[in-house]
Amino acid sequence: MSKGHCLVVGAGVSGLSSAIRLLENDWEVTIWSSEFSPNTTSDVAAALWYPFLSAPVGKTNVWGSETYNVLKVISRFPQTGVSMTQTYEYFREEQPDPSWKQSVDGFKRLNGNLPEDYIECFSFITPVIEMPIYLKWLMNRYEELGGKQKVKKVDNFSNITDKYDLVVNCTGLESKNLLNDSEVYPVRGQIIRVKTDIKEMYLDQQISTLAYIVPRSEDMILGGVAQNNDWSLETRIEDREDILEKCCKLIPELRNAEIIEDMVGLRPGRSEVRLEKEILLGRPMIHNYGHGGSGVTLSWGCADDVVELANES
Ligand SMILES: Cc1cc2nc3c(=O)[nH]c(=O)nc-3n(C[C@H](O)[C@H](O)[C@H](O)COP(=O)(O)OP(=O)(O)OC[C@H]3O[C@@H](n4cnc5c(N)ncnc54)[C@H](O)[C@@H]3O)c2cc1C
Repeated sequence: MSKGHCLVVGAGVSGLSSAIRLLENDWEVTIWSSEFSPNTTSDVAAALWYPFLSAPVGKTNVWGSETYNVLKVISRFPQTGVSMTQTYEYFREEQPDPSWKQSVDGFKRLNGNLPEDYIECFSFITPVIEMPIYLKWLMNRYEELGGKQKVKKVDNFSNITDKYDLVVNCTGLESKNLLNDSEVYPVRGQIIRVKTDIKEMYLDQQISTLAYIVPRSEDMILGGVAQNNDWSLETRIEDREDILEKCCKLIPELRNAEIIEDMVGLRPGRSEVRLEKEILLGRPMIHNYGHGGSGVTLSWGCADDVVELANES
């Protein structure tokens, strides 16, 4: 028997993962969203599992670890677009162990064979998630479970019809305007899609030298930039040059890689992820937004918490 009818607003990775978990837990679910894949921020994500530009660490470690385990299982099925990938993260300064060390497989420190100017390396295995494939797979799973969807923009949560017993807000950066939430801000990212045969992942996740080289089945993503409070969705030639220079420091052969396209997205930055329930005009509403650079990394852990809050209501 259905626990009630839930409206999920938003069809990025947060909305789809929450909607799937709600269906699996006997809720009837409808999604309203102004955009669906391939036109969401989630489509632009690189995307690797790695907690980045999100808080608070205590919670992101738990959500991240839960998500890692789900992605690892999903990676057994190639149609999901998820693959467990050997990864090398380089540092220019000495590093303590990361807080997520226990969440990943095969964590080791390496000392030899480092790129110039780098003195430390973490080696580990982490999921790469090809977002165009993964979001399609999530939508198929949602439909198989009986979920319904509609292209619809919400202007005000107070105006949603009382046909729904519960509303889940997964509108990412748009929550800033919808809820007048001053803690939300954009963190602009630009990436380059290139053709290469490289199969391993290489990272420098320090903001001042940020560089990521993410192998996918048909192409590779190079990043990155993280520009706070920059709302521009235009690609910039200076960002492309900066990304190429930083990535070539890690893997010099990328200098000759064929460029397919540049892409831009605005990460939904927030002082911390907002995952909580409030009562709006007598109806429960659960917020799940503000995941910064970790929306994919935290998605299943956050979706499980959404269900827990929903079942309490
Ligand atoms: C360049 C780049 C690289 C990234 N790399 C990674 C990575 O490697 N790993 C990782 O974990 N994360 C990464 N991220 C971050 C990740 O993309 C985001 O954290 C994640 O996509 C947020 O997902 P979301 O579903 O919350 O929001 P979104 O994907 O923005 O989805 C929001 C949804 O809400 C809908 N919506 C908004 N307003 C309304 C409204 N008023 N009414 C109805 N619908 C509405 C939108 O149409 C959309 O469907 C990256 C981001 C960028 C830009």
